Amino acid sequence: MVGAGIGGLALAAALRRAGVRCEVYEQASRLSEVGAGLQLAPNAVRLLHRLGLADRLRAFAVRPEAMEIRRWDDGRLLSGTELGAACEAMYGAPYYTVHRAHLHEALLEAAGRDTVRLGRRVTGLRRGDGEVLLGFDGGERRAADVVVGADGIHSAVRACLVRDAPVWSGETVYRGLVPGEALPELVRDPRVRVWMGPGRHCVCYPVSAGRWISFAATVRSDTSDGLPPESWSAAGDPADLVRAYRGWEATVERLVRAACDVPVRRWALHDREPLARWSAGRVTLLGDAAHPMLPFRAQGANQAVEDALSLAVCLADADAATAPAALRRYEALRVPRTTAVQQGSRGSARVMHLDDGEEQRRRDGAMGAATALRAMAWLYGHDAEHAARRAGGRSEGTRGE
Ligand SMILES: Cc1cc2nc3c(=O)[nH]c(=O)nc-3n(C[C@H](O)[C@H](O)[C@H](O)COP(=O)(O)OP(=O)(O)OC[C@H]3O[C@@H](n4cnc5c(N)ncnc54)[C@H](O)[C@@H]3O)c2cc1C
Repeated sequence: MVGAGIGGLALAAALRRAGVRCEVYEQASRLSEVGAGLQLAPNAVRLLHRLGLADRLRAFAVRPEAMEIRRWDDGRLLSGTELGAACEAMYGAPYYTVHRAHLHEALLEAAGRDTVRLGRRVTGLRRGDGEVLLGFDGGERRAADVVVGADGIHSAVRACLVRDAPVWSGETVYRGLVPGEALPELVRDPRVRVWMGPGRHCVCYPVSAGRWISFAATVRSDTSDGLPPESWSAAGDPADLVRAYRGWEATVERLVRAACDVPVRRWALHDREPLARWSAGRVTLLGDAAHPMLPFRAQGANQAVEDALSLAVCLADADAATAPAALRRYEALRVPRTTAVQQGSRGSARVMHLDDGEEQRRRDGAMGAATALRAMAWLYGHDAEHAARRAGGRSEGTRGE
């Protein structure tokens, strides 16, 4: 496997549980995660529980009571989705907010540290009949029965299968963690809080048992040439962030001012066009390598975990001869669902960033019904592992159960 991110480690852990041997090649010489939070929905949490992470998650995650969407200037509530106990009762697993580093570390333990080979950057691969030859920076080669590219949006493995390029969304996002004591009321009453306004929106939630508040503040870029303001990610200037959110509801202004005292990173947000196929012979893709998506539905890592458990089921019964068929089965199971989430994430940005006016008022009026907890059943209720077991050799449509 190529890449020890959340998707790659989830697959390594799931294969270990199934008794399938694997090695994970990671370009970084030491494993570390960005200082940021992640929302984990029941569709991934139930799978992480099966990988043995339930106690760890309970210890370091926060279980938000609700997700609230508010208007940018006066903070008027536009919609609220109950989470907490109601979500757990409806979907059989909680909705959590976590620090990425905690989740990464727990997955590494579940995968087994000795499965990860650090400082091994894959530069290419050659597909043969009975094996795949991986090439590494420095000239080393390794043969494998199956190769899974879990190497993120810039995937070297994808580049060997598909000729395409990342698509810039026109949005940039500032992301970081502020200490919980800077806005203690957001920790005392844990919620995923979203403020929407013209050309931007801001999301925040507590993580690490309330020690930190993770925020992601999106800004529509004003570059007129259609090019990203910087290549991928860079240190963000908090002064720009404060300027971008001037005049927003008081909590948002306090949040972005608190961000002036902590490291803030800035991403130019990209995705890629959905693929109809992402496997060829003994090679397949997973997570952002397969379906990089904009973060507006907070599902990128959740879908990577779903991929991992689904692929592990398909590979568990395969041998060297049947592996290509197992990869095709995995792909057929996953493509419709991940495409729906990818496209939904794209659509969300336009809707969230409407200028004030007629269309915005219609959107606000319709929001309550669209965000009811039961309306999320197609996303939160899906069990990717059971779907793969049930399907056996068959593929399944987008809207799981
Ligand atoms: C602002 C923002 C907010 C987000 N919020 C959420 C959220 O709340 N919930 C959610 O589910 N998702 C969220 N996401 C998306 C989520 O972060 C990604 O979808 C997820 O991390 C993808 O995991 P991955 O394992 O597929 O790829 P990555 O995390 O990118 O991991 C890829 C790994 O492969 C390694 N690698 C790359 N190239 C090579 C190579 N050639 N050889 C060897 N190793 C290589 C990398 O070093 C890395 O370790 C957010 C994203 C952003 C930008």
